[in-house]
Amino acid sequence: MLYPRELIEEIRFQNDIVDVISQYVPLKQKGNSYFGICPFHHEKTPSFSVNSEKQFYYCFGCGAAGNVYGFLMQMEHCNFVDAVQKLADRANISLPEPELTPKAQEMERLKQRLFEMHKTAGRFYYDMLHSAKGEEALAYLGKREIQPNIQRKFGLGYAPEGRRVLYEHLSEQGFTSDEMVKSGLVMENKDGRGYHDRFYNRLMFPIFDVQGRVIGFGGRILGKGEPKYLNSPETILFNKSRNLYGLHLARKTRNKELILVEGYMDMISLYQAGFHNVAAALGTAFNQDHAAVLKKYVESVILLYDSDEAGTRAALRAIPILVKNGLAVRVIQVPDGKDPDEYIRHKGAQEFSKLLVNAEHYISFEVKCLQKNYNLENPQHKVEFTTEAAKILAGLDNAIEQDVYLAQVATMTNIEETAIRNEMEKMKTKQEEAFSKEAQRKRIQNYTEQSAAQFYHSKGIMEAQRSILSLWIAHKWIYDKMKHLLLPEDFLDPAYQKAAMLIGKWYQNEEAIVPADLMSYFEILEEQQKITAIFATKEEVENKYDMEKIINEGFRLIKHAGLERKKQTVHSIEELQILNIEQRKLTQLYITILDG
Ligand SMILES: [Zn+2]
Repeated sequence: MLYPRELIEEIRFQNDIVDVISQYVPLKQKGNSYFGICPFHHEKTPSFSVNSEKQFYYCFGCGAAGNVYGFLMQMEHCNFVDAVQKLADRANISLPEPELTPKAQEMERLKQRLFEMHKTAGRFYYDMLHSAKGEEALAYLGKREIQPNIQRKFGLGYAPEGRRVLYEHLSEQGFTSDEMVKSGLVMENKDGRGYHDRFYNRLMFPIFDVQGRVIGFGGRILGKGEPKYLNSPETILFNKSRNLYGLHLARKTRNKELILVEGYMDMISLYQAGFHNVAAALGTAFNQDHAAVLKKYVESVILLYDSDEAGTRAALRAIPILVKNGLAVRVIQVPDGKDPDEYIRHKGAQEFSKLLVNAEHYISFEVKCLQKNYNLENPQHKVEFTTEAAKILAGLDNAIEQDVYLAQVATMTNIEETAIRNEMEKMKTKQEEAFSKEAQRKRIQNYTEQSAAQFYHSKGIMEAQRSILSLWIAHKWIYDKMKHLLLPEDFLDPAYQKAAMLIGKWYQNEEAIVPADLMSYFEILEEQQKITAIFATKEEVENKYDMEKIINEGFRLIKHAGLERKKQTVHSIEELQILNIEQRKLTQLYITILDG
């Protein structure tokens, strides 16, 4: 814990959740609750609720939930400490220096130094670009028609000739060689003596994180030479798979659609032309982590890659990754083999808008790419093409989309739709068989660990844990009746274990349990969501008969599942017998609360 608990409670208390959320989402009052359109999933009718009495939010549509800290974490994509700092600011509460472990302190200090260094380096490169040394680089930008205001916005710069220019500048600014090497901007000489700059004679593009801080650089060579583009290596600031160039600007548009391009220049020239919802994956092929990052901000992606062979191949690789992550995907191929940057420069923004509107569904793009490998005049080719196309179509979940593209393939090949559909059905069966075989293989492989863990997190068991915790929080006397029968470690979910432990501690100290303060103990969003669900999904039970029923059913389910879990790891028959006996005893145990 970074800050004292009381302070975290005070800051929470000073930031009414309805006020804070209202700054992002218009809310309408209904009794004790407020409703609005959920900012975390796409919807037309409000299912996002804010409970002003208990100070938490809960979305009935997507399950997003938490207290005011959770909301900020989810909305601003920040961590718990950032959320505390933001809300402290908002309430004009000053924070003490955070309490970090020495190792974490050292890490934090290094990070701050590297942020500082990247800022210094960025300024240095910028100044170089506008000095006599930068003439050629500046002329290049002029030729590419990048306007001065855009150059500034993106902090473009120039790394001059000479192998120690930046090194010397950073030394003068008080950075150590060790820090410089850790930033990746400077490298140790091969013979181990002395240092040199990573970038020289390159046009420099600062790479920003989503919060707009410089975390690395990309450098484009001027004139001839290899490689054409060189990027900073991965460092404690820069993770290539989690950063997309330009995302810090794109996310500000709050547009749910993003144009994904291949490089710096495409990104910048689209931005300059007024398309601000654009980003590029850099220095590494588009991968799963990129898609997961995008999914946080957008619902659909328009792929705008070069229309040459390499670009097409890259697009075909990115499509399944995006689709698998639940993003809608469309594709634009710039006509005449031009790259997007060239196209915009020659044709202008308005023509480019037309391309955007006409972006095609990824399936149609895949089929078209496939067709290039075949000559449809040749009967054998025609059969092969149709079979492959059927395979692609069979992968579509949406029946309407399937129909549309089926018709397209039928027109292309002059083959009856029904014939293709038959082929698709066969494919589907094959795919399903392969899938279930694979699933079975995995099931066997992971049985002990994985699937068992899933079982203990099944809906019923999660619900049972929530019901009991909810009753404990509402009624200390129920907790007192059960505390020796159901210990914190009996709870199967780690978050609920911790909640049970905290409840016990507070009751022992005769402290009141405030739901929203309990939530603050869970600094990871998923955990806070689980805790909030204790309060959000339950009607309060008043009737003691109902309570007794909930308690006994839940208690038995939790204990039983716990014993089952223990059975997975026994080492002897004797241990197993003991567990079996315990399980049998459990069926005879009944907790009565009606006299209490
Ligand atoms: Zn929602």
